[in-house]
Amino acid sequence: MRADKLRVGVLGATGMVGQRFIEMLVDHPWFELSALTASGASAGKRYGEVCRWQVSADMPAHIAERVVQDTAPGIECDLVFSALPAEQAGPLEEAFAAAGYAVFSNASAHRQDADVPLLIPEVNPDHLALIETQRAQRGWSSGFIVTNPNCTAVMLTMALAPLHAAFGLSKVVVTSMQGLSGAGYPGVPSLDALDNVIPYIGGEEDKLVNEPRKMLGRLVDGRLHFADFVVSPHCNRVPAREGHLETVSVGLQRPATPEQVIEAWRAWQPLPQQLQLPTAPRPPLIVRPEPDRPQTRVDRDAGRGMAVSIGRVRRCEVLDIKFVVLGHNTIRGAAGASILNAELAVRQGLVKPRT
Ligand code: NAP
Repeated sequence: MRADKLRVGVLGATGMVGQRFIEMLVDHPWFELSALTASGASAGKRYGEVCRWQVSADMPAHIAERVVQDTAPGIECDLVFSALPAEQAGPLEEAFAAAGYAVFSNASAHRQDADVPLLIPEVNPDHLALIETQRAQRGWSSGFIVTNPNCTAVMLTMALAPLHAAFGLSKVVVTSMQGLSGAGYPGVPSLDALDNVIPYIGGEEDKLVNEPRKMLGRLVDGRLHFADFVVSPHCNRVPAREGHLETVSVGLQRPATPEQVIEAWRAWQPLPQQLQLPTAPRPPLIVRPEPDRPQTRVDRDAGRGMAVSIGRVRRCEVLDIKFVVLGHNTIRGAAGASILNAELAVRQGLVKPRT
């Protein structure tokens, strides 16, 4: 263990997102993996014994030998990444924050809490200021909770942010085509998924209605005011393994041509890229000129899965502008999003080593 690294734990380390955390953290320049937790059924066993590794060819050998711990405060680390199911995440993440851990969560449990930042470091880094309100209201001295958005909301909101700033948004209609890994493991039964599209993902559309408006909202005197536009989502499960592709039509408050919209995306220089945070992709948005890109299998790994790809930018016959956006759901939409959140919080001095 290097003295200059923060010790990190992964809660729910055996699941789809937990495995991505491990893959992205094994060689991280600032963080050292020091604890892996899961359900009581896995606790006390070797990670290699209980985890069905999905994310790459081989599970790192030293990780396979680690003993999985029960998910409860007391584990040895300075901050935790949570990849817990939403139902368990609510109380468990609060218990960790109350015990002094910085919690970076993927779960939906606390995303809409008024005092919890719902963060994309490129979009709303100023919302980290809510941590002060959170600590004061909940009586937490050093711990806190920061969440990242739903895996479909993150790519949409990254595409919308420069347009909201330059032209103002009034309406958004989005249709998602979401890969199977978004449902966790084992997820959708193969006989439901193969040769099929399922036009329903429980709870997903509500998240798309609310999360972009929270993230693009303004923080005034410690209170968050949601951005004033409406989102109409249609969410579909498609038989891709990884990657969420979305077709989007937007209504703007001020008129813009497709060329001006593309220029707004290309000119975007958000904070994580300026700070050169280790997980920040450069550039964060890739605007593709080809008529048939981005495509899920071809483009989802752009920027090591952290860049968001956009294409087919054109005038919309019903609203103003329409386009396609794609991102990697378990990297930019989950583990990578949380890691980038933690890097920003660390850089801003919000995370201290626990003694
Ligand atoms: P998953 O594959 O089902 O993994 C769930 C993990 O939580 C496993 O490690 C499991 O451990 C553990 N767990 C289950 N019940 C527990 C309990 N009672 N106490 C402690 N640990 C428990 O799910 P996932 O897809 O990785 O998703 C994890 C979270 O991230 C969810 O909240 C999900 O909504 C969110 N998310 C997922 C994605 C995605 O693309 N998949 C994207 C964004 C956000 P065992 O192995 O011991 O059961």
